[in-house]
Amino acid sequence: MEVKKTRIGTVVKHTGSHYLISELPLWDLHPVVIRGSLRLNGNATTNPIAVGDHVEYEMPLDLNGEISGIGSISKILPRKNYIIRKSTNLSHQAHIIAANIDLAYLVVTLEFPETKWPFIDRFLVTCQAYNVPVKILLNKIDLYGDSHRELINYFKEVYHDQAGYDIIEISATKGINIQQIKEECAKNNDNSTAKITLFSGVSGVGKSSLIRAIDPSIKLKTNSISSYHIQGKHTTTFYEMYKLGTGGFIIDTPGIRGFGLIDVEKEEISTYFPEMFHIMDKCRFQPCTHTHEPGCAVKQAVENGEISYERYKSYLGMLDEETKYR
Ligand code: GDP
Ligand code: ZN
Repeated sequence: MEVKKTRIGTVVKHTGSHYLISELPLWDLHPVVIRGSLRLNGNATTNPIAVGDHVEYEMPLDLNGEISGIGSISKILPRKNYIIRKSTNLSHQAHIIAANIDLAYLVVTLEFPETKWPFIDRFLVTCQAYNVPVKILLNKIDLYGDSHRELINYFKEVYHDQAGYDIIEISATKGINIQQIKEECAKNNDNSTAKITLFSGVSGVGKSSLIRAIDPSIKLKTNSISSYHIQGKHTTTFYEMYKLGTGGFIIDTPGIRGFGLIDVEKEEISTYFPEMFHIMDKCRFQPCTHTHEPGCAVKQAVENGEISYERYKSYLGMLDEETKYR
């Protein structure tokens, strides 16, 4: 007779037909399938289970009590956070990229190529909205000479001094500050070693070079799988977790061009810009959209230069989009 034991593990990979689970910080992968009843649960998202999800699962044991065969997921445990994107611009369906993230690194470059600031803002707002701690990695610092110092300083003034984000200047190819990144990935603040770090950034910023610099043995995949639905072509990307030789676990997010806010009211958006959130209780009207209202503290701060005009413009763009697509 087959004996089963219920365990708790983390989803580390999703292939077409099954998931791989490991009990982090162990890296001992078990193949499991998802029960039909669970599959129906999250029909607002294209994937009911994401990489990083904590799940209850059962594995069949052989007569010697050893795990054998394919197990099944019986329950998805509550998520502490996640990163999500809209499947398409107009649909309300969402795809969960990863769950239970301890830290997200957004890799950016000011030039070669220039990361567009509205993209940075959209990523940061998504992290604020879904409770994901985030740091900015300013890569290719070896390429920036004195002529770039002013731009770097302005970037830091806006994103660190005003918005409060940690910024680390790095060079993936010259090894600058890579040791610090390795150490950060290895451990959580409470010293637990099952830390999950998400890496994101537009193509060309050096995200793969950075991951290679941290652990040359990792073979990144682009893991994009196309499937055809009756409604037409539909592309699903499955993300995957990797174990770092120097400690910790990472999730790469290849091919992400944009994020979407799901289930966010437009009145909430400004609360996800920390520098706006800190002063918005001083606006004369409550709630205030910080657009046309008189006595608006946010608009005043933009005029004084305490809030950057670029960030304010990103805010207006997001506000506009939420209004249009609703
Ligand atoms: P990805 O698309 O973000 O994964 O970017 P890649 O890792 O493929 O890097 C894109 C290009 O930038 C490659 O030619 C890399 O060699 C180069 N690159 C990446 N990091 C650095 C860096 O820190 N300094 C310099 N000078 N080049 C870099
Ligand atoms: Zn206001």
